[in-house]
Amino acid sequence: MSLNGKVALITGAASGIGRNTAEVLAAAGAAVAIADLDLAAAERTAAEIGAASGSRAVGLAMDVTDEAAVEAGTRAVIETLGGLDILVSNAGIQIVSPIEDYAFADWKKMLAIHLDGAFLTTRAAVRHLYAHGGGTVIYMGSVHSHAASPLKSAYVTAKHGLLGLARVLAKEGAAHGVRAYVVCPGFVRTPLVDRQIPEQARALGISEDEVVRRVMLGETVDGEFTAVGDIGETIRFLCEFPSTALTGQSFIVSHGWHMQ
Ligand code: NAD
Repeated sequence: MSLNGKVALITGAASGIGRNTAEVLAAAGAAVAIADLDLAAAERTAAEIGAASGSRAVGLAMDVTDEAAVEAGTRAVIETLGGLDILVSNAGIQIVSPIEDYAFADWKKMLAIHLDGAFLTTRAAVRHLYAHGGGTVIYMGSVHSHAASPLKSAYVTAKHGLLGLARVLAKEGAAHGVRAYVVCPGFVRTPLVDRQIPEQARALGISEDEVVRRVMLGETVDGEFTAVGDIGETIRFLCEFPSTALTGQSFIVSHGWHMQ
């Protein structure tokens, strides 16, 4: 299998896109570390992925906004699984509100999870990767890394910011064999999106059906949600890609919602 012998740390991997990414990487032979706020869910996910794939899978508690927890968690993964080759910085949340009502505490929470989390996990990972021949770092961006929507000021700001971090890491990491990418999904039917449908319907004064058809899928070419598997397969492809030809790029996976 293509990722035999590799170790991948995936944050926010007890649910949704992160969980599927761990499944795909484990099926390709990688040992996977499922890091999440929720230890019980992370351990349960790891046990299920280990049983289904035959690859090693461990669950650990990690709040990506907590410097000490990220440092200790990354060290524990390296010790338990014997190294680290791939980081998927995926953990994320959504808080929607118009700018004039956006609570400062919510703004700071959003930037902490999406940007502080990406920085802290990157720093902890590259200290190991630089000393051991390199590896791959993938950030979970969004179509909102490239486009804007109402009610999502903090999310759009944070997801745009990930492009900058990935590009700097691509430049700094090249000499150490580290490649950096941003994967940018359109709407994927996960708990994060399911929570937004009634919230957006209330905020925009339209029905939940209209939120799905017009707001979420209105600009796709086929009215389809992006599947978790489409994101997992894109990440597997990037982990397997054999050179730095694509480093620093972002990849939009959105049924044609956003093209560039
Ligand atoms: P999800 O809610 O299904 O999963 C997110 C996971 O992150 C949960 O298991 C949660 O416990 C974990 N998490 C939250 N805060 C954390 C923290 N501080 N530390 C560690 N773990 C934490 O959501 P999802 O839809 O799978 O989203 C995953 C990523 O994909 C996010 O970065 C999100 O912005 C991005 N994304 C999602 C969509 C979509 O449509 N679902 C689209 C584009 C981008």
